[in-house]
This record gives sequence, structure tokens and C-alpha cells, in this order.
Amino acid sequence: MAGPRAHLRGALHTIETASVDEIRALQLRRLQDTLRRVYANVPHYRAGFAAAGVHPDDLRTLSDLERFPFTSKADLRAHYPFGLFAIPREQVIRIHASSGTTGKPTVVGYSQRDLDTWSDLVARSIYASGGRPGDIVHVAYGYGLFTGGLGAHYGAERLGCTVIPISGGQTEKQIQLIADFKPDLIMVTPSYMLTILDAMQIAGIDPKQSSLKVGMFGAEPWTTAMRSAIESRTKLDAIDIFGLSEAMGPGVANECIETKDGPVIWEDHFLPEIIDPDTGAVLPDGEFGELVITTLSKEALPVIRYRTRDLTRLLPPTARSMRRLDRITGRSDDMLIIRGVNVFPTQIEEIVCATDGLAPHYLIHVTQDGHLDRLTIEVELRDAAAGSRRAELGSSVRHRVKTLIGVSAEVEVREPRALERVLIGKAQRVIDRRTK
Ligand code: ADP
Repeated sequence: MAGPRAHLRGALHTIETASVDEIRALQLRRLQDTLRRVYANVPHYRAGFAAAGVHPDDLRTLSDLERFPFTSKADLRAHYPFGLFAIPREQVIRIHASSGTTGKPTVVGYSQRDLDTWSDLVARSIYASGGRPGDIVHVAYGYGLFTGGLGAHYGAERLGCTVIPISGGQTEKQIQLIADFKPDLIMVTPSYMLTILDAMQIAGIDPKQSSLKVGMFGAEPWTTAMRSAIESRTKLDAIDIFGLSEAMGPGVANECIETKDGPVIWEDHFLPEIIDPDTGAVLPDGEFGELVITTLSKEALPVIRYRTRDLTRLLPPTARSMRRLDRITGRSDDMLIIRGVNVFPTQIEEIVCATDGLAPHYLIHVTQDGHLDRLTIEVELRDAAAGSRRAELGSSVRHRVKTLIGVSAEVEVREPRALERVLIGKAQRVIDRRTK
């Protein structure tokens, strides 16, 4: 059927391989339109632009965006729930909320066209991951206010896949349906994928014999070491999908299976910038800093220069004409300062996942001993056989944390499967009991 979306059902969208000039021209047009719309319809933006001495007409090139003020999670909270909507509430046909990882959830809304764009971009993301029309897609992201489940769901339908909307949790049922329905692709948090793999092994199912060929993993930071940990136990290609509810939901950026070199930002709909998180200055491509996103087509909740707090850098185009994100080290608010040393949970994950004999699970505890911070890392034996190497495994992690990150840690090596798993939602990696 040759409809307007026929191109999405088994081919690249022309913009994915357009010239950089074409992409920049489209971005400029859409950015000017977005600025005019928020200025006309959202009092918060009109006041913010006036305070910064800028007007939408001042944006003549993409780099003029630097003159416009940032938007933060605090702005969304200050206008809770619907105060930043740029269209009448009656035209908002769906509400979601951020998962509230770092405080009170923020509310987001979508027009019919926003939901169409979102479905198109998730369909594009699944295609980039190697999914094709007719594939069976198992969606184990949580359904509900969290954008993961429904975002994945409508995108998979849009591509023409058969969707299994199981949502998160009920691990026994997950593995039963994977065995019975034989899905080609799974969309799930990487931490819950590990739980599913463990459950398969307990049930005597070899994950390598499973029908699954592709896993689209996101919603939480994960490392290259975690990719290897998952791929080595399965036949899966583990693909990185990135998104945030304030910008849309999953599918803001997605990795391409042919290169697996970081998620491609769908730049026809999102304009990325990297800034120095302390000064707000825009940094050149290739430098590490905080990701800032401006939406280019959103109707209900456009965001201008939204500070994601995600730390990464922009990489040049490879498989598509659009720029890529490097692995996200974490959010600026995930960073722990332990006795003056900056520590990201992902740095610890790299070490744990690369230690043969340990399972790829960990929990970081930070406590206080007088004025001194104490770091304790709980890790887990991969299997009972590794038990004879418990002391050696613990000291290996301790040593590598000291030499690679520069901080002393206690390492407690637990029995296989001793650490609690998160079945729905994002993995919790840190328990910080210090008095702030
Ligand atoms: P919340 O801010 O409550 O967690 P969301 O559910 O919208 O709200 O989550 C978006 C955030 O999840 C992103 O800003 C980022 O920190 C994290 N995230 C999503 N996908 C990825 C990914 N592929 N890699 C690393 N982090 C990710």
C-alpha cells in the first residue's frame, strides 16, 4: 500500500541520508517556527525571552539559539501540571509523566500530530536496530505514565510489527511468552534484560537458543561492558535507544545495528547542543558536557534548550547523516563525590561487568564515618563455582576501583542472585545515606 508512511515500512526515511545542508535548513525552519509558537502561546517562554532580551525574530542562524534561555526540570515543575502547554488543553490527547527518578514527576502532553511523530520515530528506531515489518516485538518496558511502554508499543505497530504488550514484571510469564511466541526483538531496560536472562537459565532455557535477535535497551545508563555481558550470553545484538519524556519519550536517538557506535539523534525533530554544565557555554562537537535538547516539531509541549543533565558528547555522523551521542556517563545528579573524587555508577559498572566470575549486578552504598565518606560496593558471584574465588574477585574489584577511579572502596561479594532486582522501572544503583 503506497500511503504517506509507506517509506517507513521497510526503508530509510529520505531525511536520514540527506545532506547536512538539507538537515540544517530543515532544522532552522522548524526552530524558527517553534520559537514563534512558544512565544505566542506560552507565557513562561515569552517572559523568559523578554528577560534575556531576545525575540524569535532574532534567530537567523542555528547558532543564534545560544542567546535564548535554558529550560530546566524546575521550570516544568513550577508550571505543574499543564502550564507549559503551547496548545489548548482540549487538543492534548495524551498525558505522560517522567518516571520521577530525581524528584516529583514532570508532566508532558501530546497532540495527535505529536503522537504520530513519536510513532514514526520509534518505528525508525526499530528499523535502525534491525527490526522489520512483520517481526514480533516483545515490549517489556513499563506501560502507563512512563513513556517507555506505550512509546515502544505504538512505534512497533507503526512499523508493521506484531506487538506483545507484556509490560514490566512477571518474569516467569516473560520467559514463557518469549518461548511460546518467539519474538524477534525485545524492548526493555538493560537491567531487566539481565533478570530475564537469569530466569531463563534457572528454568533450564539456554538464552542462545531463544528466538530473540535484537534487544533495544535504554531508559537508564548502561555501558559497553554491559553490552558485552548481554551479548556474550545470547545471540542478541544489544542496541542503545535513548530518550526522555520532556523531549518526547524513547526514540529521540537510536543506535544503528550496522555500526553500533552510539545513538543517532533524529535531528529532523531534535536539535542537540552540548554545554558546560557549570557555565552554560556551548561546547564544540566532540567535547564532553551536558546534553541540551530543543524540540523542532512538538506541538503540545515544545521545549527550548531543555537541560537534560545527561553527560555525553556529540559524535560525527556515520550510518546516517545525523550526529550521534556517545555513551551517557550518567546524569550530573548521579555523580557521587566521594572524598572529593567524582564517581559515576557507570564507572563501577564497567569494572564489575569486566570481572570474570562476577554477575553484571551491583549496588553502591555511600555512608559517613565521622566526616569521611565510605564507599561500599556489593557485587554478586556469577555462579556457585566462582565461590572459591570470592576473596580474589573482591580484591580485584577493590584494586581496579582504586587505580581506575581513584577512590578506596569496600567490596562485598554476595552469593549468586543475592542482590535485589528491579522488575519494573529503572535500576537503582546507589544508596546514599550521607547527611547532605
Ligand atoms: P526521569 O527523568 O524521571 O528518569 P524519563 O523516564 O523521561 O524521566 O527518563 C529519561 C532519562 O533516562 C534520560 O534523561 C536519561 O537520563 C535516561 N536514559 C534514557 N535512555 C537512556 C540511555 N539509552 N542511556 C542512558 N540513559 C538513558
